[in-house]
Amino acid sequence: MNILVTGGAGYIGSHLVKILSKSPHSITVLDNLSRGHIESVPPGVGFEKINLLDKIALADLFTRKKIDAIIHFAAFAYVGESVENPGLYYENNVVGSYNLIEAARTAGVLKFVFSSTCSLYGNPEQMPIREDFKTGPLNPYAWTKLIIEQVLRDYDTAYGVKSVCLRYFNAAGASFDGDIGESHDPEPHLIPIILDAAFGKREFVSVFGTDYPTPDGTCIRDYIHILDLADAHIRALNYLEEGRESNIINLGTGEGNSVMDVIEKCRKITGRNINVKIGPRRAGDPAILVADNRKAKEVLGWEPKYNIEQTIESAWKWRLNPKY
Ligand code: UDP
Repeated sequence: MNILVTGGAGYIGSHLVKILSKSPHSITVLDNLSRGHIESVPPGVGFEKINLLDKIALADLFTRKKIDAIIHFAAFAYVGESVENPGLYYENNVVGSYNLIEAARTAGVLKFVFSSTCSLYGNPEQMPIREDFKTGPLNPYAWTKLIIEQVLRDYDTAYGVKSVCLRYFNAAGASFDGDIGESHDPEPHLIPIILDAAFGKREFVSVFGTDYPTPDGTCIRDYIHILDLADAHIRALNYLEEGRESNIINLGTGEGNSVMDVIEKCRKITGRNINVKIGPRRAGDPAILVADNRKAKEVLGWEPKYNIEQTIESAWKWRLNPKY
């Protein structure tokens, strides 16, 4: 297949592209490099520096290249930023994705794997979270993902565009060979922040709230290794290739760890001192988000391979020697 990976120079996309670049598929990365890293794009992979807001460039791409399927990662993904600047998110994530979906279906590309998020469940009443739970985004970022899921549903009904929307829990970790990893500026995510503190780049980790209804009072999340996520995308592509129906699937390990648990595990793995400061809650953080991942297992035959220790180990290897 000829596969177009949008946002393929970003954190999650680059880990998938690295695996796909060793497969028989022909891969093209589309990225505007506003937040991605060209260094992560492997040799032999086609690269298109295109902004999804540029409809002419998109139409031209689909004229020049025959594409069989699209894996769409390209998006802004900072919750806090989306609250402060929703227009940026609705334009980049909603208008950009719409432009891509429309250009693709006009060109007859009917297979789509979409990078979605567990944050669109909002504050669920029950754990673990199943795909049929009601949605209720708490921030513009999550709304942009839910809106595009709806666009894809409508494009299936009207035009037969088949999609798999993958709702990620907390993506973490890095390639085990240390070649590529997480590099955000600023970095909002817990594990790289803790490892920055272990490394000495930060004085301390702020713990955002210790008064949540959890055993130690800190938020619980489901941290999933980036390579397990990548594997699920390949399975989703194969699923679509088999001509199956559009679907929505959670991707998480099914295991929850509190902020304090993660800090303690990072202390053990790095052997370094990690200073902690207890701070107030961060706006919009649900207390617990853990996936029910049975559907991913049943529909995609997917099983997470890595536990949180391996996730932290791979992130630490990258932190000690980041390439970009
Ligand atoms: N968190 C924290 N301190 C930080 C960054 C994050 O206590 O410096 C907490 C955050 O409140 C959440 C969890 O760590 O409960 C995971 O946050 P992250 O931003 O990594 O992912 P999110 O769950 O928001 O997608």
